[in-house]
Amino acid sequence: MAVSLWKAGLLSLCPNCGQAPLFDGLLTIKPRCPSCQADFSIEDAGDGPAVFVILVAGAICVPFILIAELAFRLPIWLLVLIALPFTMGVCIGLLRPFKSLMFAMQWRYKAGEGQKAQHNSHD
Ligand SMILES: [Zn+2]
Repeated sequence: MAVSLWKAGLLSLCPNCGQAPLFDGLLTIKPRCPSCQADFSIEDAGDGPAVFVILVAGAICVPFILIAELAFRLPIWLLVLIALPFTMGVCIGLLRPFKSLMFAMQWRYKAGEGQKAQHNSHD
């Protein structure tokens, strides 16, 4: 039975078996699944997760910072002191599920570098 892409992605589980954790540390994907031995060496999400995290974190953090500034008229040093850890926390918190979701999609749809089709006929 196929593993749910969303479950594997959002819970950071192996996209092949859905049993073992995908990450070794915060953002490093294991070289292979300890449960089903699936080879994760094809992993190459690149900057994809970071792009989506920037978009989502911006939509969350910018209104928060604007409301804090306009509603409470906080001094700039206090705003930076609050907004910087908040923004970093949101970004780091989102990066892991986005990376594992993109890897799960890459795994499911066998995404990779483009290759020339092999033709048997002479061109
Ligand atoms: Zn597995």
